[in-house]
Amino acid sequence: MRDICVYCGSSPGRREEYVEAARAFAGELVARDLGLVYGGASVGVMGAVADAVLAQGGRVTGVIPQALQDKEIAHPALTDLHITGSMHERKTKMAELSDGFVAMPGGVGTLEELFEIWTWGQLGWHGKPCAVLNVAGYYDGLIRFLDHAADEQFLRPWHRDMLLVEEQPARLLERMADYQKPQAKTWVKKGEL
Ligand code: AMP
Repeated sequence: MRDICVYCGSSPGRREEYVEAARAFAGELVARDLGLVYGGASVGVMGAVADAVLAQGGRVTGVIPQALQDKEIAHPALTDLHITGSMHERKTKMAELSDGFVAMPGGVGTLEELFEIWTWGQLGWHGKPCAVLNVAGYYDGLIRFLDHAADEQFLRPWHRDMLLVEEQPARLLERMADYQKPQAKTWVKKGEL
């Protein structure tokens, strides 16, 4: 892995732990010489992770749609900043530039990005690891729901297992480095689950 994409909130969230975890994750990236790819904003958890990577001498690539440059306040000091014509181009560019994807606490934008990249993996369109950094139990309810979806046979067990979930940034990055995409068939016949 060379570059890791982080999806996270354009808000800082209610608890200091969210921003602290973003900084801790940034430290682990820099320690492994991994670059950060993210949405290019200077606000919220997004801004915190980028600032922390830059402060430690790491590489940060931002990708932001032109229409959001003012709203999300594009970061002025990134290693590289790509301005895209649309949200779809942004997400495609982030996916191309990255060797793995991590969702940290965030809102619907974060969730949408995580689910899109995970479904692309489920379809076999990429074999890169998709992961959740579960800070302060923020994603507990979502993980429970995904297990429920697997129990109810709307989510295949090997697709559920594709989403790596950890509380510690270092452990998460170790699991991402070891990730092998599932060899199980992508599509199954009716009743084969
Ligand atoms: P949020 O988690 O809602 O604070 O948003 C985090 C990031 O996700 C922001 O940079 C949003 O611009 C971005 N995002 C990506 N796709 C979408 C979408 N379809 N709707 C809203 N925000 C999105």
